[in-house]
Amino acid sequence: MSRADSDAAGEGMLAYLRARIGRDGPLTVAQYMQICLEHPEHGYWQAADSIGKTGDFVTAPEISQIFGELIGLWCVLVWERMGRPPTLRLIELGPGRGTLMQDALRAARVSPAYLERLSVHLVEASPHLRQVQQRLLAPPSRSDTKPIPMAWHDRLEDAPEGPAIIIANEFLDALPIRQLVRSGGAWHERVVDLDPHGRLRFAIGAAVPDTGSHAPPDGTILDLREGEGALLGALRARSQPLVALFVDYGPADAAYGDTLQAVHRHAYVDPLSAPGLADVTAHAQLAGFAAKARAVGLAADGPITQAQFLGALGVVERASRLMTANARKAHTVEAGVQRLMSPTGMGELFKVLAIRSSTLPSPPPFD
Ligand code: SAH
Repeated sequence: MSRADSDAAGEGMLAYLRARIGRDGPLTVAQYMQICLEHPEHGYWQAADSIGKTGDFVTAPEISQIFGELIGLWCVLVWERMGRPPTLRLIELGPGRGTLMQDALRAARVSPAYLERLSVHLVEASPHLRQVQQRLLAPPSRSDTKPIPMAWHDRLEDAPEGPAIIIANEFLDALPIRQLVRSGGAWHERVVDLDPHGRLRFAIGAAVPDTGSHAPPDGTILDLREGEGALLGALRARSQPLVALFVDYGPADAAYGDTLQAVHRHAYVDPLSAPGLADVTAHAQLAGFAAKARAVGLAADGPITQAQFLGALGVVERASRLMTANARKAHTVEAGVQRLMSPTGMGELFKVLAIRSSTLPSPPPFD
């Protein structure tokens, strides 16, 4: 098998995980998730197209242009609410194929004053997706338009200081989580190790000190969203003012339960079955994220459902205008909006949360 073939079958990643566990012992779930996503040779982010019909999953901006357009108009309103600062960093975390940003910038042409003050900063871990974004957003410059300055960064901390609007769709779910499992009346680290045949399996690791007063039954799993703490630290350390918009899937309130999941070619698979080939994520829990933000001195609005957010920003009006302007595409526009808004689609599973400097007023539609 050539290197490319063995990578396509996930053999390289499996060999790496076996050697690593053999040498260092079991991995925490956070370490496992991080390796699956970030490994510089065999990690999921190195691989080809993950997002879209031919990839593993489809996201809201790929379903309808209206999603990015409404967020683009929302950014203009937020900039005005910030008091129209003379420079503005528009930062996107995990921009995927760049579609959301493209739609957002097109919609923002209603406000040339906003666009003149803007620089765009894309925080992207995947070298492949970076190239896709560069092709879409920064094509060779045309002389008739003044290009918006655009830069790519590895981490939020690398984006330059200054007043900022930060947008992130389906980003929080990719942050590594740690898991605890209840066993013998105590919490233990949930780990990934090898069975006697060299296959990956979940196991119970070292006991950890009990923190809460609850004593759930043995076998209960608790997700600890530790990556969120680092992200909030980076937001807190930035110069203010800033407003950040997070859209992600997950319940409004979560207690216990294993939300680690893996998706490969639009189907759920066992998170241990295809390391490096499947997208491994965990449900975001935006109410919990809001509470953590407040605890570090930031203000938070929401979460509300995606249907409430898009509805308040005028999704219906925008859709009917697009349908009138292009009758042949009316059906596609309608089907896309239906999928974004419907309670059985993404309308209620996806939630929207704004985090902001406490000196700023709540952004629309939370005001
Ligand atoms: N926002 C896009 C893509 C969502 S998929 C959309 O809505 O279509 C998650 C995106 O986040 C991908 O672009 C992935 O490569 C990127 N990503 C995940 N974790 C990251 C991290 N820690 N740092 C930077 N980018 C990350």
